[in-house]
Amino acid sequence: MGSRINLYKFFRPILFKVNKIQKVFFQFTLDPTSLRFQLRRARALRPCPAKLPYAKRDLDDTNRKCLLLFSFLFLFVGNTRTVAVRVLIDEQKKPQWTLVSDKGFILKNEQDKPLFADVIYHKLKLTHVKGKLYINGKPFKESKLYVRPTEQPTLFEGRQYDGLFFITKEKDSYLLINILDSEAYVFSVLKTEGWPGWPLEVDKVFAIACRSYLLHQLLLARKKTLPYHIKNSNHHQTYTGVHNCAVKRQAVKETKGMFLAHNGEPILAMFDICCGGVIPHHVNGVVDFQKAPYLARTYPCTFCKKCKSYTWQAEYSLEELRDILQEGVDNFLHDVQDFKITQKDRAGVVQEVTAKTKHSEYLFTTRQAYRLFKDIKSFAFSAKKQSKKIILNGKGFGHHMGLCQWGARSMVKEGWNYESILQFFYPGTTFMRLENSKHS
Ligand SMILES: [Zn+2]
Repeated sequence: MGSRINLYKFFRPILFKVNKIQKVFFQFTLDPTSLRFQLRRARALRPCPAKLPYAKRDLDDTNRKCLLLFSFLFLFVGNTRTVAVRVLIDEQKKPQWTLVSDKGFILKNEQDKPLFADVIYHKLKLTHVKGKLYINGKPFKESKLYVRPTEQPTLFEGRQYDGLFFITKEKDSYLLINILDSEAYVFSVLKTEGWPGWPLEVDKVFAIACRSYLLHQLLLARKKTLPYHIKNSNHHQTYTGVHNCAVKRQAVKETKGMFLAHNGEPILAMFDICCGGVIPHHVNGVVDFQKAPYLARTYPCTFCKKCKSYTWQAEYSLEELRDILQEGVDNFLHDVQDFKITQKDRAGVVQEVTAKTKHSEYLFTTRQAYRLFKDIKSFAFSAKKQSKKIILNGKGFGHHMGLCQWGARSMVKEGWNYESILQFFYPGTTFMRLENSKHS
C-alpha cells in the first residue's frame, strides 16, 4: 500500500505537467469552445471511446416510448439528442397536488388520448377523496396521466419545473413524476448539489459526476422496471427544479453528454462534501468494491485540508445522550453512563457504537448513530468521555466515497483540469458521451 502511495506522489506532478502541455497544444489546434476539443483532451489522457453503443441501445428504448407520447421532449438541435429522465417528485397515498401553468395544460392518458380536451385548465388540482382520484373535481378513473404544460415552466409547491408531469399508481401510493431532458436535470442539480460562486472548472467536474450518477440510476431503474429513474431527495441527488445560474449552465454546455464509464457502463459516481483524508479502499461495508472498483481509491485526498469540516468536534452531555436515545430508541429507559466506539474499520470509519447504562449495553450501527445524533457529520470519528460529557472527534463531511467536493475546488485552484480531477477520484474509469449528443 505504502509503495502505491509513494508512486502516485512521484508521478502526479509529471502527469499534471503533461496535462498542461496538452492543453496548450490543443488551444492552438482546435476551437476551445467545441465539445470535440474537450473529448480530444479527455482521450489524450486515456483512451476514450467517442460513442457508447450500449447506452445508445438501452437509452433509445426509453426515448422511443416517450417519443410516441410527447415528441417535444427531445431537443433536436442539429444532430443533438438527449435522454428523457423521470424524477420522482412526490409520493402520497392520498395526494392533494396543485400544478399551475400560465398557458394551461394538455392532459393525456397512457394511450396518448387527450382528456378533458374541451377545457383548458391553468390550475390543476388533483385530490383524493374516499379512494378515488379527482382532477379539478372530475373523477379520474384511469391509472396513468400525462400532464403537459402548453408553456414551461410548471409551478408545484412554490418551485418551477421544466418538462412535463406523469402521475401513476404503485401499490397503495400515487407517484408524481417530472419528465425532463437529462441536460436540464444536470443543470438543475448543479445548484442543489454544488456550491454558489465556485469556479467553472469545478462545476464541470460536478456536471460529469452528476450525469454519470444519473445514467447509472437510469439503467438500474430500467432493470427494476420502476416508473421513475431517480428520486428528487438526497437519497439520490437533490433536485428542486429550475434556476438561472449562468456559470452552471456553461459547465453543462461544455460537458454536454459526457460521463464516466467503467466496462462501458455509467459509473455510480458518489461524491461527498469533504472526505477528511479518509482512504476509501480501507472503508468496509459502504460499497461493493467488486462492482465499483473505481470507488476503492487507494491513496488519500489531502486537498480538502482547508475545509472547516476536514476535522470536526461535537459534544453531548450524558443527559443529552439519554434524551436523544430515549426519544429515538424503543425501550431505552435508563441514564447513559458511557458511549463508546466498539468497532472500526481500517479507515477509521465507525462500524458500531455502544451506549452503556446501569443495566445493559445498547449497540448501534453507524447509520443509526448518524440518524440519531445530528452533530455527527461523517462516519469517521472517535468518542471519549470527559467528566460528564462525551466528546466526538471526526474527519470529513459525508460518506468518504468518490469525489471530494472541497478537494476538487482546491485542485482547480492549484491548476488541475476537470479530466485529471475526475481521474484522481474515480481511478480506472474512461470518459464517454451519449450517442448523438454532439456539441450544438
Ligand atoms: Zn478530500
